[in-house]
Amino acid sequence: MKWTKTLVQTLREDPGDAEIDSHKLLVRAGLVRKVAGGLYAYLPLGMRTLRKIQQIVREEMDRAGALEVVTPVLQPSELWRTTGRWDTMGPNMFKVKDRGEHDFALGPTAEEVFTDLAKGVVSSYRQLPLTIYQIQWKFRDETRPRFGLMRSKEFLMKDAYSFDVDAEGADRSYWNMYHAYERIFSRCGLKAVPVQADGGDMGDSLTHEFHVLADAGEDGIAWCEGCGYAANLEKAERRADGAAACAPQCAAFSEVATPGAKTIEQVAAFMNLPPEAFVKSLVYVADGRPVMVCVPGDRDVNDVKLKRFLGAKTLALADFDTVLAATGANAGSVGPVKPADASLRIVADASLKGATGRIVGANKDGFHLRDVDLARDTFLKDGDFADLIVVKEGDTCPHCGKPIVIKRGIEVGQVFKLGTKYSGAFKANYKNDRLEEKTMIMGCYGVGVSRTLQAIIEQSHDANGIVWPAAVAPYQVVIELLDPADASVAKVADDLEAALEAAGVDVIVDDRAERPGVKFKDADLIGFPVRVVAGAKGLANGGVEVKRRSEDKSMTRVVAPEAAVETVMSLL
Ligand SMILES: [Zn+2]
Repeated sequence: MKWTKTLVQTLREDPGDAEIDSHKLLVRAGLVRKVAGGLYAYLPLGMRTLRKIQQIVREEMDRAGALEVVTPVLQPSELWRTTGRWDTMGPNMFKVKDRGEHDFALGPTAEEVFTDLAKGVVSSYRQLPLTIYQIQWKFRDETRPRFGLMRSKEFLMKDAYSFDVDAEGADRSYWNMYHAYERIFSRCGLKAVPVQADGGDMGDSLTHEFHVLADAGEDGIAWCEGCGYAANLEKAERRADGAAACAPQCAAFSEVATPGAKTIEQVAAFMNLPPEAFVKSLVYVADGRPVMVCVPGDRDVNDVKLKRFLGAKTLALADFDTVLAATGANAGSVGPVKPADASLRIVADASLKGATGRIVGANKDGFHLRDVDLARDTFLKDGDFADLIVVKEGDTCPHCGKPIVIKRGIEVGQVFKLGTKYSGAFKANYKNDRLEEKTMIMGCYGVGVSRTLQAIIEQSHDANGIVWPAAVAPYQVVIELLDPADASVAKVADDLEAALEAAGVDVIVDDRAERPGVKFKDADLIGFPVRVVAGAKGLANGGVEVKRRSEDKSMTRVVAPEAAVETVMSLL
């Protein structure tokens, strides 16, 4: 392909709305162009890479035995009402009406559509296991689209759904997809790590997210260098052996007036003590009943862990009136001591077990209690302690005891066991060998295809631009034709282009009448893995210059034009 025959528009300036390198480079290298906030057009270079990623995904899905289908973007509300998600998906789902006033969603995901599809086509256990997938555009009404393709309103997803006769089969389907994902990301040149994640409503079931580690990532990951434990911050656990009791035994607690001080920081400043000397007490409402949660003053409650510990279906922070009715005080003065409502359940983080000498709210506006021994002075019993806080750097790994570090990640895929949540709602059944009706066991598996494109850039770039892995580069080789008007030089470039294409390599020939400096800058910005320079001067001195994008100029090889194909192939 000749540069002048395709559509490449590189920009010198970063787009004004770009906060992270990959977003800047996507636009500057002419891969995409913004249409509106969170909506992008893919230009020819971006389209080539997007198609290559899709092809890798498709090949690995097919290799894993999954079958490709495609389902409508426009999904009837009846399917979403079957699972109740028409009402619970919230404002992130685009809802539209047709001219007959029928409700539709622009699919943000497709569990309902695929479950209904499987129900329609599967009748016997002989047809199972079955995994079907599609590569389809998805929609999400982001309040604040940002980071380019990372958080956009429209994105390309590969979503797969597995259907099995029993839990063992579902487990096999899960790991089958897990390993396919490892192959997909590795073939894309990405270092993506599987990270344990919370199974949500699915109880303790297994789920993994695949993350590309990058400082620009939106998600926090707890990481143990010691044993390789990796979990997202919702799920991450820590070893909490309880607090060391202060010696000698604390004196009896006493009441202190803390007028006007509402937050831990304000009370800590008022009493001139560090936040960790305090117990932070928050009131939640779990399944309609108030619950008080106590954590160290410098830590945050992990809502997911709390919900799981309480076995609650719904969980939210309590409003002012509920806090007052339950404790007798307003938020800011509440604590795990005698509450106004004697039936109030009180739970605490495991690290507070045995804690002494703490300051807690007095359940009396404007007052705190100091020198509190939690076992002696509060309503907390042995069974009320659990790991309830968000893990932070320096916490102890639950498996090997080494300190946890926090890394940032970009989620590019997820594998998830669904059980019978959807198949149950749809009565997606099959007949077993005794002709009994049984419910299919499901799993779902997503790869963010457009997001993967950007994650590759985020993980593989330098100050000059993108450094594409060869498998997903828009073109694997750029031939810099320095003297396009010189017929003999142009012939060298043409012959090399033809020879490389015959060898199955994607080549672009930069035949623009531009200065070499401009051409080299563009080549580095777009990030073609191998650059070949063909110029009259170089040819007179022995040949063409070949180097990898990732290499320094000093690594440039000068080879005879006839030998260039072999050199390029070895570098790819
Ligand atoms: Zn560990």
